[in-house]
Amino acid sequence: MILKSRNEPVELQVLRSLRLRMRLTNKEESYYLQLDKGYEGEKKFDRWIEPLLADKLLLTDLLLECSNSLFQIDSLLLTSNMIYLFEIKNFEGDFLIEDDKWYTNTKKEIKNPLLQLKRNESLFRRSLQEIGCTFPIESYLIFINPNFHLYQAPTNTSIIFPTQLNRFYFKLSQSPSSLKDSHFKLANQVRSLHLSESPFNRLPVYQYDILKKGIPCPNCKNKFYKIDTRTTVLCHTCGHKEKVESAVLRCIKEFKLLFPKEKITTNTIHEWCEVVPSKKSIRNILFKHFTLTRRGKSAYFI
Ligand SMILES: [Zn+2]
Repeated sequence: MILKSRNEPVELQVLRSLRLRMRLTNKEESYYLQLDKGYEGEKKFDRWIEPLLADKLLLTDLLLECSNSLFQIDSLLLTSNMIYLFEIKNFEGDFLIEDDKWYTNTKKEIKNPLLQLKRNESLFRRSLQEIGCTFPIESYLIFINPNFHLYQAPTNTSIIFPTQLNRFYFKLSQSPSSLKDSHFKLANQVRSLHLSESPFNRLPVYQYDILKKGIPCPNCKNKFYKIDTRTTVLCHTCGHKEKVESAVLRCIKEFKLLFPKEKITTNTIHEWCEVVPSKKSIRNILFKHFTLTRRGKSAYFI
C-alpha cells in the first residue's frame, strides 16, 4: 500500500515552465535536466516496487529534519520486521570511483551517493529514536538505469546495480510481512514528520513581463500551441490537438504556479494564454470553472 505518493517537485514544475518562457543559463538548464532525470528514475522505481506492496507500506519523497539537519528520503518501505530506506539514482553512462571519490566519465567529481545514503540513514535512525521507535533499518543505494556502469565499484552490499535488481526484488518479495496496526501507526507517524515546504529551491529570478506568453504543448513540451479552430488549438511541431478549454485551464494552473499571489482576471489570462483570440471564450471558461469575486473596484476569479 502506498501511504505517501510522489508528486512532481514544485521546483521541477516551475523550471519546466520557465525554460520555455525565458532563457535559462547553462547552469539552470543543467540543474533542470538533473532534476527531471532524477524524478524519472524515482517514478521508474515506484513502478518497479509497486507489485510488492500488497503486504508492505511505501512512503515516498520525504523531507525530514533531525537535530537542525534537513534530509530527503526518496523511498521508505515498511515491512513488519524491517524498514528499507532507498536512495534512487538514475545515473546513465560510465562512472568511476577513485580514492572514495565519484566521477563521471568526463572526470567531473560528483557527490558521493554512499555518503549521502549513510547520512540519511543515521539521521533517519535518530528521528525514529525521537519518536520512541527502535525498528531495524536497512538502507540501499539503487541504480535504476540499465545503462549505468561503475568502474572500480566497491564491494558494498548497500549498492544495488541494475543487473542485481531482479535478485533484489526477489529478496524483498521473500521478506515476511504481516502488518499490524502498530506498523500503520509508525508509518503515519513518519508521514506526519514530513515537511511540505522545501527550502532547497534554487529557482532563477523571473517576472511576468519578461516571460513569453502562450500555451505550451504538453506532448512535445517545448513548443507553444497555435490556434486551430474556434474550439481547438494545435501544435505545429508534433500535431497534437487539444480543446481550448482544457488547454486554457492547464495554462491557468501554470500561471498560479509561477505567480501564486497574482489575481486571475479575464485580461490577465487572455494575455497569458495569448493564442486564444477571443476574450469572450476566456471569460466563459473562467466563469465555468471559477467564482467571480468582487473586492471594491476590482473583480477577479478564485
Ligand atoms: Zn507538440
